Amino acid sequence: MDLSKLTIAKARRALDLKEYSALELTDAYLKNIAARDPEIHAYLEVWEKQAREEAKAADETIAQGQAKALTGIPLAIKDNILIEGRIASSASKILENYVASYDATVIAKLKGSRAVFLGRTNMDEFAMGSSTENSAFGPTKNPIDTSRIPGGSSGGSAAAVAGAMAAAALGSDTGGSIRQPAAHTGLVGLKPTYGAVSRFGLMAMGSSLDQVGPLTKIVEDARILFEAIRGYDGNDSTSLPDSKGEAKKPRSIGVPRKFLESGVDKDLLDVFERTLESLRANGYEVKDIEMPTLPYGLAVYYIVMPAEASTNLARFDGIRYGLSIPAGSIGEVYARTRGQGFGPEVRRRILVGTFVLSAGYADAYYRKARAVRAAITDEFARAFTETDIIAVPTTPAPAFKFGEKTADPLAMYAEDIFSVPVNLAGVPAISVPCGSVAREGKDLPVGFQVIAPHGGEERLFSIGEDIEKTRH
Ligand code: GLN
Repeated sequence: MDLSKLTIAKARRALDLKEYSALELTDAYLKNIAARDPEIHAYLEVWEKQAREEAKAADETIAQGQAKALTGIPLAIKDNILIEGRIASSASKILENYVASYDATVIAKLKGSRAVFLGRTNMDEFAMGSSTENSAFGPTKNPIDTSRIPGGSSGGSAAAVAGAMAAAALGSDTGGSIRQPAAHTGLVGLKPTYGAVSRFGLMAMGSSLDQVGPLTKIVEDARILFEAIRGYDGNDSTSLPDSKGEAKKPRSIGVPRKFLESGVDKDLLDVFERTLESLRANGYEVKDIEMPTLPYGLAVYYIVMPAEASTNLARFDGIRYGLSIPAGSIGEVYARTRGQGFGPEVRRRILVGTFVLSAGYADAYYRKARAVRAAITDEFARAFTETDIIAVPTTPAPAFKFGEKTADPLAMYAEDIFSVPVNLAGVPAISVPCGSVAREGKDLPVGFQVIAPHGGEERLFSIGEDIEKTRH
């Protein structure tokens, strides 16, 4: 079996035809992890023994003819998704030894299908970042060019799949953390409609923005994994009722032209335009649309997200979870534990979030940001009366080098310009590889991002499969 080309869809057929067992498949991935991961560092922990046990159980299910889509498929799980009895650290010192006491709903669903969990993957601490350099446990390298970042915050999940160290992975996306690493590592990444996938057991960062979703080699796999994890969950108060979704095939593509003037690399934009041309040649109608509030998305996101994160992270107080540094008074315990347990980017966002929510500033920042967020949401709703889907590049540039943006947080935030408006509006979006650009003699992948209205995932899969046929 060639793991570098193996997809969930292919592995499913091979497992059902008994070409190999789930145990053999799992062993092949574990062997590749042992060989490659010391360099790449996609995983924070690999669960070899347990993965083999799960694979054996999957083989029994297959033998009984009871296999589901993901039975026996080896997956990697981002370190902010809870699995009962396992450490979940969000790549933070403050949760370094925290053991989850229950399964996230997405995990319970995957366990129900007898999927195999290979291990937990590296990420930016508490999912704050775009490069995985903010992990408290060291960065992850991009398997396509190891001098470059794999994107973030789900960089470990992306590197695991791109490096043939998992068949597919789960990530979380608050402002692009599935789509951007997918773009930088040549994968497909889906941010589902807000509420389509349960957030129960996902460590909360920006609760009104967070969604769990798949990172996969092909669009078909993203559909398979999304179908397996979606669904109403009474444990998540923002969970959407189950619906069939609509099977509409998109015909028209709206391109917010002016928004693309936001500092995109010329050759990357050329790849994007050539992909649009191919789609036009395939019968899609491509038209320019006006979305004048989109450029404000970045500023709005970097107010709303830190505000929500500062409240969510208040629970890590040195008393209830994880790290606790003893001190003379309770106030000192809080201060020392949080001061030493959180890394610099997390502390920065807590400070920003606390500031924009504080009396006297909440009107000037937080409430204004919420108003602009509502305007962005309206703008998407209006745009979708004119067009079936919206297309923009996933990122303004290909994967950058380690250290290139760490000294300048605003440069790092600018990486998210095309991804954050989607989370603010709660709509679904997919990043599909559409070609590559050369940097220092290496071909680096480019992601084409497609955005659909609420519940429009089928539109994304449908056009995503057309994009896969047109590489530039
Ligand atoms: N890069 C964005 C940030 O740093 C998005 C993170 C995410 O989606 N988790 O906030």
